[in-house]
Amino acid sequence: MDEDPRRTLERLGIRPRKGMGQHFLVDGRVATRHVGHANVGASDIVLEIGPGLGVLTRRLAERARRVIAIEADRRFAAYLRESLPEVEVIEGDALKVEWPPFDVLASNLPYKISSPITFRLLDHRFDRAVLMYQWEFARRMIAKPATADYSRLSVGVYRRAACEILERVPRNAFHPQPRVDSALVRLVPRPSPFPIADPARFDAVVDALFVHRRKTVENGLRLSWRSFAETPRGLESILPSVPFRRRRVEELSPEEIGRIADSMAGAKG
Ligand code: SAM
Repeated sequence: MDEDPRRTLERLGIRPRKGMGQHFLVDGRVATRHVGHANVGASDIVLEIGPGLGVLTRRLAERARRVIAIEADRRFAAYLRESLPEVEVIEGDALKVEWPPFDVLASNLPYKISSPITFRLLDHRFDRAVLMYQWEFARRMIAKPATADYSRLSVGVYRRAACEILERVPRNAFHPQPRVDSALVRLVPRPSPFPIADPARFDAVVDALFVHRRKTVENGLRLSWRSFAETPRGLESILPSVPFRRRRVEELSPEEIGRIADSMAGAKG
């Protein structure tokens, strides 16, 4: 049985730190579903980011071969080492410490680091991941072209993984209560659904274009010329062979951005 996190915090004399995104799951049923969505089995090595008081960690440890948890707050790292000795706790910043090899990632993320953690994850080898994000962030992850939520994140996720919102989690499932609802999201890596000759160049083009998502492709590239040419003139010489160059960035599909990136093969970026 879970102890109510409010009682545990009181018992330990710990006040949650807002700056560290410390919102604890008080609804144990959500934690059980989270672990269920990740389909954790006896052969899995699981990495958890931000275990906090261990509401997910305990459930993961009951099913997995091994659980490794990265926690930045030393108070929770110490508490976990004592209360769940079978779990390996790495005390540190999940953006900085080296990640061990793992099959499954499970996390109720500190929202401030959602984006860098997601991109780091997508560059890592893994089998599946279930993460809790802010609802709006999750919507951006799965957004389609020509919608308000379509962003660098949508394209970055689409090219690397199948992504699905599993359920909306109301804000009152947490203590302290955040200002917005959350979403449980599953990511399963897969090869890009369209050809990309050079993934690094594709990412550089996506980064440059989405700084100015309402502009046309050619104007967006002009504003970021330094990423692709030695001089503005150098960029102008590439532009005539760039497809879709008069279209607005926000309307382009990831496939079309792939064709733009491939057309820039001779460019420096
Ligand atoms: N998993 C717990 C739960 O569901 O109740 C806690 C989730 S809380 C939203 C986020 C947790 O991540 C906190 O325990 C916080 O201390 C930790 N955290 C914050 N920044 C971190 C970072 N950069 N690296 C690792 N953990 C971090």
